[in-house]
Amino acid sequence: MIDLEKIVASRRGFMGLAGAGGAALAFGAGSAEAAKVRTSARILILGAGAGGAAIANRLSERLEGAQITVLDGRPQHWYQPGFTLIAAGLRKADYSISSTTQWLPRGITYINEFAAEIDPEANRVVTTGGQRIDYDYMIVATGLVLDWEAIEGFDLSMVGPETGISAHYASPEMAEKSWHALDKFTDEGGIGLFGRPATEMKCAGAPLKITFLAEDIATRKGNRNKVELIYNSQADNLFGVPVVDHRVRQLFDDRDITYRWKHVLKAVDAGAKTATFATPDGDVTSDYDFINVIPPQRAPQVVRESGLSWADKWTDQGWIEVDQSTLRHLRYANIFGIGDINGVPKGKTAASVKWHQPVVEDHLVSEIAGRAGTKTFEGYTSCPLITRIGRAMLIEFDYKNHLVPSFPGVIAPLEELWISWLMKEVALKATYNAMLRGRA
Ligand SMILES: Cc1cc2nc3c(=O)[nH]c(=O)nc-3n(C[C@H](O)[C@H](O)[C@H](O)COP(=O)(O)OP(=O)(O)OC[C@H]3O[C@@H](n4cnc5c(N)ncnc54)[C@H](O)[C@@H]3O)c2cc1C
Repeated sequence: MIDLEKIVASRRGFMGLAGAGGAALAFGAGSAEAAKVRTSARILILGAGAGGAAIANRLSERLEGAQITVLDGRPQHWYQPGFTLIAAGLRKADYSISSTTQWLPRGITYINEFAAEIDPEANRVVTTGGQRIDYDYMIVATGLVLDWEAIEGFDLSMVGPETGISAHYASPEMAEKSWHALDKFTDEGGIGLFGRPATEMKCAGAPLKITFLAEDIATRKGNRNKVELIYNSQADNLFGVPVVDHRVRQLFDDRDITYRWKHVLKAVDAGAKTATFATPDGDVTSDYDFINVIPPQRAPQVVRESGLSWADKWTDQGWIEVDQSTLRHLRYANIFGIGDINGVPKGKTAASVKWHQPVVEDHLVSEIAGRAGTKTFEGYTSCPLITRIGRAMLIEFDYKNHLVPSFPGVIAPLEELWISWLMKEVALKATYNAMLRGRA
């Protein structure tokens, strides 16, 4: 029997349950509870996605008189955890779309442009429209870019039912087109190819989720015997956390989903319906009727050219050189990173962004107040790993690959549960929205 009160009372998890009225529950100490600090500091936030919007709200609650500027050229805010639901035909594209400005607090300056140049030596950023912005503190929250061009022969215009190509990472609209491709494939049958890139990636569980969902949808249609599903792993495991890897293998075996090790997608021939994978033994070309393309992922070019990236790690990806506990830049003490852009060993999920917030807020506000911050990020990463419609495993872990369940004794992380599904399908969005407002 699930103890909902215990779940609701938990202060730890990213995912609260939406209340009857649909309101999100906020966890953790609300920033509004802390005393305001007076300052005239100029704070620049690059990006108004999950991390940027949330920290803008938190800082505007904590600081009085600060000049906070948020830069983001995308007028739409995308709720990306919803892309999986859209790609499985459970939601329409508009489920994940809102406006960027609706999440930003009053009293800040929002510039609807991207950063085009970042000069951390001069404490200056130039926008795509040529505006120069000088800052005292900067928070980099640009997220990452999807390197579609790295897949030879592939173009996003190919996505859809006619080609059998799916690319649900790209955007809400592409996730919906991806659903039409999956719908046709699970009607007609054939070979379906899935997999993940060899770079770091956001939500490393998402390639597995879409594979599980494809299997489930084919089964529900009575067409399971018409489809062959092959998952291409970039490594020799299905998930980086060993105990989770073991469990996912077990489920793939039970459901007759084949997997291949060290197969990294490098080219798609949409005419011939073949995909080529780089492997340690040379290229392997496979036929497909359906393919889910998830490309390599990197820091945006402007960040890679800024001098903020690690020089000796992830050199082809450009994640920024922050301390993994404080998220403060290791060479520029007035710069912090939030979200996917951070060069830390774990944590490219919205759930991690939630735990980046209090750390960056604490160190930045403390410094302004003349104290030292004390909060640390321990690598919290969470992935409600959908295994079929109506079932998920609520996987939460840290830098040490320890499982850190939010609801110990209540929700078993490695069991396929309806409550874990509910968290992904219903509660996650409400909690994400609360986070954007700085309240979770
Ligand atoms: C298919 C899919 C499923 C996912 N599922 C889950 C899940 O179940 N659970 C979970 O926790 N997470 C999930 N995630 C991951 C989650 O969405 C991201 O980790 C999270 O959004 C990261 O937040 P962010 O602020 O770093 O980046 P984003 O939210 O991507 O925001 C980055 C913002 O920066 C802006 N930007 C980019 N370049 C610049 C620039 N040069 N100047 C200014 N602004 C710039 C962008 O326009 C964007 O608005 C999923 C992601 C995908 C794609």
